[in-house]
Amino acid sequence: MSGVVLDGKKIRDEILEELKPRIAAITRKRGLPPALAVVLVGENPASHIYVRNKIKTCQELGIRSVEITAPQNISTRDLQDQLQPLIEDSSVDGILIQMPLPKQIDPEDIVTYAVDPLRDVDGFGAPSLGRLVQNKPGPRACTPAGIMEMLKRYEIPIAGKKAVVVGRSDIVGKPMALMLLHANATVSICHSRTQNLAGECRSADILIAAIGQPALIQAEHIKPGAVVIDVGMNRISEESEAHRIFRGDPAKLGSFRKNGSVLVGDVDPVALREISSAYTPVPGGVGPLTIAMLMANTVEIAEKRPVQAS
Ligand code: NDP
Repeated sequence: MSGVVLDGKKIRDEILEELKPRIAAITRKRGLPPALAVVLVGENPASHIYVRNKIKTCQELGIRSVEITAPQNISTRDLQDQLQPLIEDSSVDGILIQMPLPKQIDPEDIVTYAVDPLRDVDGFGAPSLGRLVQNKPGPRACTPAGIMEMLKRYEIPIAGKKAVVVGRSDIVGKPMALMLLHANATVSICHSRTQNLAGECRSADILIAAIGQPALIQAEHIKPGAVVIDVGMNRISEESEAHRIFRGDPAKLGSFRKNGSVLVGDVDPVALREISSAYTPVPGGVGPLTIAMLMANTVEIAEKRPVQAS
């Protein structure tokens, strides 16, 4: 058996295409396009790539982007001061603080200070999380929201199914579990202290892996015919490890030799393909949806906010 590939790029393109007329309507109505501000603190190379991609997608869609950068060693107080003009700029619809922040800064001190609930485009603030818990409308964390959108568009039934989420982070695992719960799945959340992880995972009709450990989820974790969503994005730079995980797959090893590394998810790619009924590949599965949902959240916020004077 070989599972159906859930194509994140295809769903992303559909979502972005559907946003274009809405962006044009907002721009016509208030004389200003929707605007997204991205705050990038420090030197994390992955964060720089994510922010670049977010800004590029804004440009392609006609969303105005504002980028604010700050040095790695900035204090909470100085960062708050630097964000003051942004907070006062009512032409900005969504504000996103790129995570992770440097260690000396508690994210809560920045998100609560700079991102009012109406502009919380990432859905990370406490009020947005509260609305998610209560199943009330509001911006939702982009990665789990993208996964829900993918399950919906591929018409994968959720109600009454057993869903297992491995990972309990505030940005993926917990909101994912709540969204599945609100869609009437029976949900378990697993983490590093879970006993018998394989047994828990094997009970899942829908298995979501959001762990950050290359190919941790193996054949023994997957119920035959399950839908498996692999959120993990792990870069492998050891050729022997790439060889072991991809079973000598010439395409993946070719890519490794060309780039000096290769991306692997949290699920063994061979088990994923052979045991699931449908699965997200890495790359090209969940990743593209995260940015698409960020754009969708920005547009939704802009549609709801009062018209801004230029
Ligand atoms: P975190 O590191 O915040 O959370 C990881 C979770 O996995 C924790 O809850 C941890 O448990 C759990 N975990 C770690 N090791 C094990 C183990 N051996 N067995 C069971 N559970 C374990 O990661 P994130 O949620 O931020 O991200 C998870 C993955 O998803 C990463 O690979 C990240 O790169 C990727 N990601 C991808 C995105 C995309 O757009 N495709 C977006 C965001 C993330 P505990 O709480 O007990 O420590």
